[in-house]
Amino acid sequence: MASIDRTHEQGASSWVASANGHSEFPIQNLPFGIFVPPGGDEPRGGVAIGDQILDLAAILEAGLVTGPALAALVLASEATLNAFLASGSEPRQALRLALFDFLHVNAVARPEFLHAAAACTMRMPATVGDYTDFFAGIHHATNAGTIFRPENPLLPNYKYVPIGYHGRSSSIRPSGEPVRRPNGQRKLPAETAPTFGPARNLDIELELGAWVAGGNFLGQSIPIGKAASHIAGFCLLNDWSARDMQAWEYQPLGPFLAKNFATTISPWIVTVEAMAPFRAPQPKRPAEDPEPLPYLFDKTDQNEGALDIDLEVLLFSPKMRTEQQAPYCFSRGSALNLYWTIAQLIAHHTSGGCNLNPGDLLGTGTISTPDRTGLGCLMELTRNGLEPFTLSSGEVRKFLEDGDEIIIRGHARRDGFVSIGFGECRAEILPAF
Ligand code: MN
Repeated sequence: MASIDRTHEQGASSWVASANGHSEFPIQNLPFGIFVPPGGDEPRGGVAIGDQILDLAAILEAGLVTGPALAALVLASEATLNAFLASGSEPRQALRLALFDFLHVNAVARPEFLHAAAACTMRMPATVGDYTDFFAGIHHATNAGTIFRPENPLLPNYKYVPIGYHGRSSSIRPSGEPVRRPNGQRKLPAETAPTFGPARNLDIELELGAWVAGGNFLGQSIPIGKAASHIAGFCLLNDWSARDMQAWEYQPLGPFLAKNFATTISPWIVTVEAMAPFRAPQPKRPAEDPEPLPYLFDKTDQNEGALDIDLEVLLFSPKMRTEQQAPYCFSRGSALNLYWTIAQLIAHHTSGGCNLNPGDLLGTGTISTPDRTGLGCLMELTRNGLEPFTLSSGEVRKFLEDGDEIIIRGHARRDGFVSIGFGECRAEILPAF
């Protein structure tokens, strides 16, 4: 696990004034991403600082970074971060320290290497070869199970094996790109036969994403004690889901077109180094639950493998946009509601010999609170459409309508440390084609 060092000092500030105070991107965060500067230059690596983006290719060209961080800077300034992710924690840590010093208030201010983030376009931070989505939010699993199997909500395997499915990487997009309502075969239980057409029950799933750093060879596993070091960082993830398609198609092989049309992520990789102060013990399992099998159990992972991240989901309707109202927040929860740690997901994924590659993306599964204040999807909030909810604008929703925009935000907070944010995971629904 990454340790706490001078880059986490509460008193540290930057010569980038907007980074000081209540920014999601203070000098203690320094997340990596790929951006296109204004004027349509080539995509390149950047680091978010306040409301600015530090241009890594530009500081590389200017020769401003030397020493052990230089090799990492070369990789992080490329048009995709796959090679940087593959390089592992030591180069990443060296570059973090160098960028911290470069942006520190005591360093010479170099605003010529910044771009206003609002004027830039974010791209996918890495080429995602493979995307796997898990089901590690136990309250979501219970709530969703209750809707379909009230007498037996949680299947008997849930507390033994991290459940997941292999998702579709080609349709993952960074925040800001709209999502088109999918067409497909839809059939609700009350209907006698399926029809083909636009999904009617379009939903979100609030999740965290984990970016794979170094991978493993085919036929070799990653032991639980080493699994955390195979993650480079985290993002917010929205696993868009068409529930009326899902209910009809998911048996016997799992989700298919109900989820492969789009996944939206926040574009910044918040590194494991930035998250070091916000690790937490994995919440204790109820006494009646089984212990994880030995290949999924590691003492250090149990002590500090969880992530203390506050999550919120907001809906911004066309009416709110027209009337200049604020988006409506319908969910406030925490990533501490995951039943499995990210390391356990990695250990399980590779336990059969499956190889992960740098830039692979893992989704945690929908994260919901045990009560109804922080539900991670509309299917849970509206009990599959039976109980519509009212927005702050007076509008009513069962599921998403065309023009609705979903915004996910995440913040890590701890006394004695500066809070960091993930940036937005945001997309608007376009009508079906
Ligand atoms: Mn999901």
